[in-house]
Amino acid sequence: MAGSALDLVAPPHCLACGGEDAVHRGLGVRCAALVRPCPPAPCPVCAGVLGPGTPLEDCPSCAALRPRFAAACAAARYAGLAGELIRRAKYGGDPVLAWPLAGRLVDALDVWSPAAHAQEVVSVPTTPGRRRERGFHLAEILGESVAHHLRVPFRPRRLVRVGNPAPQAALPRSERRSAARGTVAMRPQPGWTRALLRRGPPRPRTVLLVDDVLTTGATADACARALLAGGAACVFVAVAARA
Ligand SMILES: [Zn+2]
Ligand SMILES: [Zn+2]
Repeated sequence: MAGSALDLVAPPHCLACGGEDAVHRGLGVRCAALVRPCPPAPCPVCAGVLGPGTPLEDCPSCAALRPRFAAACAAARYAGLAGELIRRAKYGGDPVLAWPLAGRLVDALDVWSPAAHAQEVVSVPTTPGRRRERGFHLAEILGESVAHHLRVPFRPRRLVRVGNPAPQAALPRSERRSAARGTVAMRPQPGWTRALLRRGPPRPRTVLLVDDVLTTGATADACARALLAGGAACVFVAVAARA
């Protein structure tokens, strides 16, 4: 999709149901109410839901994953309409549904302080096969919208999938972390060696990594590890939905 998804002319009807009630960021009032908001005080690292009375440092997802990203922001819960929009976009081949997702994501980032520190936006990579199959990559459309909104460079090709990993959605949660390890790498930058000789190593940058959904965090963690190994100073994560 050329340009940011948010640059598209606002559709006159709800993209989820086709209804014509008042539309904001691609969803009518009734459908917007079906997007489940994140809890008021999620885990600040993985954006996961914490049980009542659970101290922030006792997040079970973070204890299982020990993620290398510093903090994550989710625009909505995966349960509810946000998850349905993601499934319909990806498996139904309907990239226009990225529009309401991107809108909610940039709204969430406006009130999430780490976003202001991002110096570049990187999207979680897909495999060439899956990109061909779908004709687009949802994380990339979302990343482009976020970068445009934050006015920082977008680097969709910074990371690359190594080999042909099984889709995370096809694996049980317990296997996702080990399956994700080593499946993402930094793509060598063209002219990198010459630039290095001329100017010295690039200054470490704070990266905002964008994906459609965060479930166990294993994929985001594999990306964060690759970015940090490649010289990033800090990696934050932004997703349309937290499962
Ligand atoms: Zn609707
Ligand atoms: Zn957590």
